[in-house]
Amino acid sequence: ANGKRKFGYAVLGLGKYATEVILPNFSTAENSELVAVISGDKAKAEFYARKYKLGPNSAYTYKDWAAIARNPAIDAVYVITPNATHRHFTEAAFAAGKHVMCEKPMATTVEDCDAMAAAAKKAGKQLMIGYRVHFDPMTRDVIAQLKAGQVGKLQLIQTANLENQLPDRDLPYLKWRLNRAMAGSGSLGDLGIYGINASRYLSNQDPIAVRAHEIMHVNDVDGAMSWTLYYANGAVAEGASSFGSAGCNRFAVIGDKNYVEIQPGSSYYNNQARLFSNGHGNDHIFQQPYFQKFTATQWGHQLDALPASIASGKPSAATWQEGRRDVQIISAIVRSAGNNGELVD
Ligand code: NDP
Repeated sequence: ANGKRKFGYAVLGLGKYATEVILPNFSTAENSELVAVISGDKAKAEFYARKYKLGPNSAYTYKDWAAIARNPAIDAVYVITPNATHRHFTEAAFAAGKHVMCEKPMATTVEDCDAMAAAAKKAGKQLMIGYRVHFDPMTRDVIAQLKAGQVGKLQLIQTANLENQLPDRDLPYLKWRLNRAMAGSGSLGDLGIYGINASRYLSNQDPIAVRAHEIMHVNDVDGAMSWTLYYANGAVAEGASSFGSAGCNRFAVIGDKNYVEIQPGSSYYNNQARLFSNGHGNDHIFQQPYFQKFTATQWGHQLDALPASIASGKPSAATWQEGRRDVQIISAIVRSAGNNGELVD
């Protein structure tokens, strides 16, 4: 807009999410644009550079960091690779002097999160996590309403992020997700992270302890997991995730006055929230036409949040601290589930 140069992203890792969702959604951003792609496969990078009509120096491989560093059009690298590789690619991007947007979960261990944060600090660049739901205007409205006391005193949060993906278990995108070394956990870190993150933004609190049970085991990870997060004020958040269940994407926030039902709660499209007053009828506070108009641009808002944060010096809604906190909770849940549901602080 107004002749001002847009913030340039190089998308790294041209798998399912990058090619099906992120690349096409650059068109919904206002202040950001796709300027390059980085892949292990040079021909794939060249294919997407052509498809999105990128300029001459725009198709790179993971060996081209010196050239990426020299390209002034690239302001940030957007890392969209298997979870265990996030640290490596994030550190490489910071060493090349770029800002980083890294997909969720931030990493597979808290130690890796700390190394990534240290690399950002050393480079003097920003590290943001790809929590797209934070940029869904409907979700932001719900958060504001809850902060204003809409449900009264918070008692219970319920989150379910359940999908039936196991028939795809031999496809590349799911194969690494069922491998603990590559993914960190199974359905928990991939899908359950939305519920864990929502439990934090819907309660505006961090849990002080967790307890968990695995519902289904696949390879060396959870195929389905169930957990309880305990808050200091006595409220509780119950969550579940699954790769092998009937699909359900639902958050509920129950207080002593009202209850908010968000279903779907962390979907790509059509997220919707309704307020129920004491179970008598319901007020549709977040209506369909409203969210349909805006939800398709959650990625555009997310992409624009990084340059906005750099320009203003104010943290975005998806800081690395948010990412680290969720990785910490995921680790505690895995530990509890592995120890018969013991309470983990
Ligand atoms: P895919 O398996 O489809 O793609 C991952 C890509 O990473 C590969 O295609 C490959 O790209 C690259 N890559 C780099 N190193 C490796 C490696 N060692 N093994 C395998 N691939 C490698 O996964 P997704 O796109 O589904 O997921 C990628 C990330 O995005 C994950 O962290 C996931 O959690 C996150 N995600 C986030 C979503 C959201 O809504 N925020 C939704 C879906 C995923 P290339 O061939 O170009 O080198």
